[in-house]
Amino acid sequence: MELPFAESFKIKMVESIRRSTREEREVWIKEAKYNLFNLKSDQVFIDLLTDSGTGAMSDKQWAAMMLGDESYAGARSYYNMKEAIKKIMGFEYFLPTHQGRAAENVLFSVLVKEGDVVPGNSHFDTTKGHIEFRKAHAVDCTIDEAFNTSLLHPFKGNIDLNKLEKVLKETPREKISMIVVTLTCNSSGGQPVSMQNMREVSAMAKKFGVLVCYDSARFAENAYFIKMREKGYENKSIKEIVLEMYQYADMATMSSKKDAIVNMGGFIGMKDENLFKQASVYNIMFEGFITYGGMSGRDMNALAQGLDESTEFDYLETRIKQIEYLGKRMTDFGIPVQLPYGGHAIFIDAKKCLSHIPKEQYVAQTLAVELYLEAGIRGVEIGTILADRDPDTRQDRYPELEFVRLAIPRRVYTNNHMDVIACAMKNVMDRKDAIKAGFKIINEAPILRHFTVELARCSTS
Ligand SMILES: *Cc1c(COP(=O)(O)O)cnc(C)c1O
Repeated sequence: MELPFAESFKIKMVESIRRSTREEREVWIKEAKYNLFNLKSDQVFIDLLTDSGTGAMSDKQWAAMMLGDESYAGARSYYNMKEAIKKIMGFEYFLPTHQGRAAENVLFSVLVKEGDVVPGNSHFDTTKGHIEFRKAHAVDCTIDEAFNTSLLHPFKGNIDLNKLEKVLKETPREKISMIVVTLTCNSSGGQPVSMQNMREVSAMAKKFGVLVCYDSARFAENAYFIKMREKGYENKSIKEIVLEMYQYADMATMSSKKDAIVNMGGFIGMKDENLFKQASVYNIMFEGFITYGGMSGRDMNALAQGLDESTEFDYLETRIKQIEYLGKRMTDFGIPVQLPYGGHAIFIDAKKCLSHIPKEQYVAQTLAVELYLEAGIRGVEIGTILADRDPDTRQDRYPELEFVRLAIPRRVYTNNHMDVIACAMKNVMDRKDAIKAGFKIINEAPILRHFTVELARCSTS
């Protein structure tokens, strides 16, 4: 018989997690003001809040930590990281930062001015935050297919070239900071961008004289999908695909907490020396000297090793097959999830699950709270709370899609955990008519409100 698939690793170290009772969770979530970010991790059984910085490092990464060089300037670890970025992405210049949003802060300090326009494919929340903080505007040019969750399209992260061209034509050149291509596209469901789309965006950017930046957090997962789904790439290695992807970018911001499989870190990759020099000024001001930029030597070493591991096929196959496994179990239970399954997470279509809850009561948040109450599983809302208020009108922005994202940490949980998650969701669906109302906001921050928002249950009458 054909042998089943099994993980391409074995486990060397474990960490205990604790189950809780529904009664305990009722108390804890109320104390947390129904914001899952406010829960203590000990109050969570399976933590799918994020795949950011939550991965398990390999024995080789831990070994690299021991070899970290903590010199302030010119550390060996810095050169290891420089070499890895050059070899894997092809960038001649880079700056380490403490995480992805810090890379955005430094790069955007050089390139984004008040009144600017930044087209892209469903910008990530911190990216949008850093754009809007500078009184510039992020314009979403994602293809329309991305917003139909049941449509099977291999590259739902793609940029619609007509939408992009319209923005580039209607905006004076000096008002366009850059085009941001997010790999994979988190906000539309962890969906990849095709190589062809990257090539076409690059050609259009060149025509209009605009820079292209890859928001690169999950670049390796994106490369895996290109290998599996795009004609002409089936026989190429992940590393070959990654190198080609970055031929079509001028620069990149990276959250190393994702596809570099470290717990903290980030960087900016650049091809232009002049841009590197300008960005260095801000890096020194906000992050640290250019040879460490907010990272310790050991972390830079682990990052260099992580970049190498995450661009290996066996690692990616294990990872993405686990996401697929969870997705299939959900689908078998009739739970509506974003199709095709994404690279790092399963996105549950909350509007379809709880169609009787009005959008003003935060549908996806309501579902996320119910899943926590059911089994101590912590997902995250990717919906109206995350979409935040319009910076001009201060009204809630209602996105087309309301998701509960179940992000799977890298190399952390087994498929038994995936089974628990799928069964818990099934139980929530079976009792959905008893979920009578959603939530209202009682306290929120002026920007990136989802992290600290406080909620109360809406009355059911
Ligand atoms: C996580 C992430 C960021 C921000 O990175 P942090 O390390 O969390 O600051 C930016 N863009 C994308 C696509 C991300 O996934």
